Amino acid sequence: MKRTRLRRNPPQRPAYHAEWKAEHPFCWRCGWREGQWSEVWPRRLETHEMVRGPFRHKAFFLPYCWIRTCNVCHAEHFDSMPVVRQLAYKRLHDRKHYDRRAVNRLRRRTPSAITEYQVLAEVEKLKLAGYVPEGGNE
Ligand SMILES: [Zn+2]
Repeated sequence: MKRTRLRRNPPQRPAYHAEWKAEHPFCWRCGWREGQWSEVWPRRLETHEMVRGPFRHKAFFLPYCWIRTCNVCHAEHFDSMPVVRQLAYKRLHDRKHYDRRAVNRLRRRTPSAITEYQVLAEVEKLKLAGYVPEGGNE
């Protein structure tokens, strides 16, 4: 129910979200950029929050929770992806705001609930699978 309310009426993003979006002009998973041809319509870039449930509202204001994705990867992958893998995407594409310990704390876990080694293992898996787009290379 909360999920529906957030979806229909998401909180206003902070002003620095616009700046962050400009720094991330492509989907971190598939590399799609706005303006690029797409067989899916509509296609657009969105911001996914790494945490859900009661913590998601806070995440709207916390850059360390943000993942840049197209609406297709958002619905088909990021919405159901384990947090450790989401952290791997964050580490690969937004090192500046990567904060594993803060994500753990926001989820009311100990700061090392997900360890750096676990994230690095996911990073390696993503690299092996070829999911490290530079942007626009789909
Ligand atoms: Zn995508």
